[in-house]
Amino acid sequence: MPHDLAPAPEILRVENLTKHFPIRRGAVLQRVTGTVKAVDGVSFSVPAGRTLGLVGESGCGKSTIGRLLVRLIDVTSGSIHLDGADITHLKGEELFRRRQDLQFVFQDPMSSLNPRMRVEDIVAEPLLVRGTDGVACRTRVAELLDLVGLSRGHARRFPHEFSGGQRQRIGIARALATNPRFIVCDEAVSALDVSVQAQILNLLKRLQVDLGLSYLFVAHDLSVVKHVSQEVAVMYLGRIIEIGDRRRIYASPAHPYTQALLSAVPRVGAVSRKGAGRQVLAGELPDPINPPGGCAFHTRCAHAMPRCSVERPELEHVSKGHHAACHLVG
Ligand code: SF4
Repeated sequence: MPHDLAPAPEILRVENLTKHFPIRRGAVLQRVTGTVKAVDGVSFSVPAGRTLGLVGESGCGKSTIGRLLVRLIDVTSGSIHLDGADITHLKGEELFRRRQDLQFVFQDPMSSLNPRMRVEDIVAEPLLVRGTDGVACRTRVAELLDLVGLSRGHARRFPHEFSGGQRQRIGIARALATNPRFIVCDEAVSALDVSVQAQILNLLKRLQVDLGLSYLFVAHDLSVVKHVSQEVAVMYLGRIIEIGDRRRIYASPAHPYTQALLSAVPRVGAVSRKGAGRQVLAGELPDPINPPGGCAFHTRCAHAMPRCSVERPELEHVSKGHHAACHLVG
């Protein structure tokens, strides 16, 4: 069952989303010898004009969800609805048209911006492929550069002439070119210095208000997610293990994994209580090819009970708009 995050009209609904990657062996035959369940039955919705933060360790499947939503890769099963329309299996022209509503901001703007293209051509590209004429493109590029805090004089320069923060502004301008309604930001500030991160996060928040945008904000840094999200989903080995209102989750996380992640986030005023309340996550993320049975977190959980290794917990109600998948809940 999807977990509604708020009563506001939803722009995006994902139901039972699954992405399995086959593991192939052999130079010639390429036999399938196993499967990585990168995303394993994930459901959520995002209300219009809001941000869902998706957090978890590297390899938990959060970036795969972002790529599935904008249809950079195909789903194995499940459904994606944008504004009530099923976009799960769109192809060709239909997918191309729908993509203008769904855009992506990448982690590393340097590798996502063509180094041989001028900024004006990079930002105009999504418009040109949709048949916008040259004059209208130039006008729109100037508007977009203004919108993201760059000057019109930057239009003739190349990506290498900019700082990391400026390059991310170019990536955001390009994402905005088609007037999208929903943007997936995949670790969009992870490669930036902390002070520049704050500038880009504030830009994204301002654009959300001004343009009515909705975001899926994928990040491993919980302090960054807290800054931009109204709702938060925590992932572990392909599944959402806690989801709900950001204030509730940060104030009283219900899942031991979320508790451990949050205990590692530095807090203002916590310096004198060195190490107080810090829960160290034991071990590494298990191999996603062969995940633990029952609760996948039981190999690292300080509260694990015998049933945890055999019974997989489903998301249960914790409080209004807050669900967690743990046998300690409910
Ligand atoms: Fe820990 Fe068991 Fe809860 Fe999993 S179900 S998080 S192992 S207590």
